[in-house]
Amino acid sequence: MRYIYAVVSRRAHGVSVGINLNTNNACNWRCIYCQVPDLARGAPPPVDMVLLERELRDFLHELMHGDFMQRRVPEDARRINDIALSGNGEPTSAEGFAGVIELACKLKQELGLPPQVKLVLITNGSLMQRGNVQQGLRRMAQHNGEVWFKLDRASEAGMQLVNGTRMGMDTVREHLRTAISCCPNTWLQTCWFGLNGAVPDKQDEDDYVNFLAALLRDGIRPQGVLLYTLARPSLQPEASRLSVLSAEQLETFAVRIRALGIEVLVSA
Ligand code: SF4
Repeated sequence: MRYIYAVVSRRAHGVSVGINLNTNNACNWRCIYCQVPDLARGAPPPVDMVLLERELRDFLHELMHGDFMQRRVPEDARRINDIALSGNGEPTSAEGFAGVIELACKLKQELGLPPQVKLVLITNGSLMQRGNVQQGLRRMAQHNGEVWFKLDRASEAGMQLVNGTRMGMDTVREHLRTAISCCPNTWLQTCWFGLNGAVPDKQDEDDYVNFLAALLRDGIRPQGVLLYTLARPSLQPEASRLSVLSAEQLETFAVRIRALGIEVLVSA
């Protein structure tokens, strides 16, 4: 299929139905840990909504009524966990983003998916100023929607180094405020890893914790932080300079975030 893929997770005991709109492997950011092969700068081509609808409808129908679960999924994971917009680039950069959310909501209802099946958006949050992105998030909020908003470093230098963007922290804060106001179930997703043989330093931690503390003072409260390290090798030229952190190293950082009264889910 062009747009749809499945991820079977034993840990989450379920199947995530992925929608990849960036079929050309293009993203507006260039994260040094990115696992997209042949990553290019840019936006996705126009979405073929007829094809996307057919693929999503057929695959959801197969999961619910066909034998895919029996053939391909371990017994303890035979349920649909979520429909996730996450692909080989930034999903909100697709012109038809709001229409794609609308389609997922429509099929969820039409096919009778259980209400607990989440609609998840995995985003770098950089295009929250766009009206169609806000429209999509508001619609998500009506359908058990959850936004994972990328925040790997909380300084302009850190974001330039790790994410390849010159976005300022004031803009990040405003985009986060917008995401939360449109879809209150918004989490920060933070990839924490070593670079050039060194773990993130105290300044990196301080920047992050101070940024979160300032958000909270302004009344901007994410649901929590999903803190993880490199799960699979980077496919970018910097790959050999990156290193995985241990569960203990992640936990040490998580303790500082939790001290702000924010939930942290650590995945090592
Ligand atoms: S935002 Fe996501 S897809 Fe884009 S470069 Fe970063 S990790 Fe890759």
